[in-house]
Amino acid sequence: MIETVSTEPSAKLDLLGFTQSQLEALLTTLGEKPYRAPQIMKWLHHRLVTDFSEMTDISKATRIKLEELGEIHEPEVVSVQVSVDGTRKWLMRSRSGSSVETVFIPEGSRGTLCVSSQVGCVLDCSFCATGKQGFNSNLTAGEIVGQVRIVQRSLAAEFPDRRRAVTNVVLMGMGEPLLNLENVIPAVEIMMDDLGYGISKRKVTISTAGVVPGIERLCETTDASLAISLHAPNDELRNSLVPLNRKYPIAELLAVCRKYANNLGEKRTITVEYTLIDHVNDQPEHAEELIELLRDFPCKINLIPFNPFPQSGYKRPSANAVRVFQDKLIAAGYSAMVRTTRGQDIQAACGQLVGEVADKTRRQERYRRISTGVA
Ligand code: SAH
Repeated sequence: MIETVSTEPSAKLDLLGFTQSQLEALLTTLGEKPYRAPQIMKWLHHRLVTDFSEMTDISKATRIKLEELGEIHEPEVVSVQVSVDGTRKWLMRSRSGSSVETVFIPEGSRGTLCVSSQVGCVLDCSFCATGKQGFNSNLTAGEIVGQVRIVQRSLAAEFPDRRRAVTNVVLMGMGEPLLNLENVIPAVEIMMDDLGYGISKRKVTISTAGVVPGIERLCETTDASLAISLHAPNDELRNSLVPLNRKYPIAELLAVCRKYANNLGEKRTITVEYTLIDHVNDQPEHAEELIELLRDFPCKINLIPFNPFPQSGYKRPSANAVRVFQDKLIAAGYSAMVRTTRGQDIQAACGQLVGEVADKTRRQERYRRISTGVA
């Protein structure tokens, strides 16, 4: 049988991506009582129903109206892989026809879900496998929330003693979340809402390569945690790793992050992600420069030893280089953790997510030519 996938955007409303207030507004336009919104949210995000007919405390007439206009659409699960360390990776097909990856990392009582926000990525950071895939499209809010829903449902049987398997969400999968804010903002709101997935604002983290106007917008719209992918202590080096730095240099990025942290108040910090690459940004002098750069900046630092992928051209630093770098930061008074690599056997570690992207930018083709030496 030939499987067909619609690449047409749906004409129906994507109800999994509707926040409570959006749902209330929709009900009002339908001539229905807005107080039904919490009931509907609970059906969608607590009981995880797939069909309107299951919403038994909503009148049949209302359900019919909802079904005419809207739909409960989740990405389609293409495959699931389980690592020897318990990490799991799903390949999920979006409405675009391309697929993204979602990773669940169990650690004791914590279960962190790494969610994708876009199919591919336009940014092309030199050390990231997703960037080499080029870009296809934004995920909808419902497709972002849908990743949490699918994993929650799929792991419920395995963690019956817990109210939920997913305790933390990081938007560190494929894509740049701040280039898809229209969908990321409602999705994050639903994750943090008690009527949605009830995850604390401290445990939902939006990670960005440094889209400064996007952070400005976050200041007005959310109080989720923020992580920035810094990776270098000066503009010259950062330009070569994160090309976006040419547009929004480090000083501007740190300034807007300070504003975001001040807005949050109550002792919240920004997570600074720093991928350590052998002999590129992992030397003691880089640590010293970073110590100066981040003086008085409200942060904790996450060091990520580079995860190799074919044709990356970079190497993972030695364990000793990582330790020396970390010790320097700690001695200078920083909180600096080394992120342990999980799920490497199933290519689920940071920067290894590739999905199946029907590239619209021709970048995939360009990288393929470079790696095969065909001009
Ligand atoms: N675009 C967002 C979300 C991606 S998050 C961002 O840049 O923050 C993924 C994190 O893993 C980022 O900090 C990214 O820079 C880092 N990363 C990417 N490729 C990596 C690799 N090969 N090894 C280790 N970390 C990597």
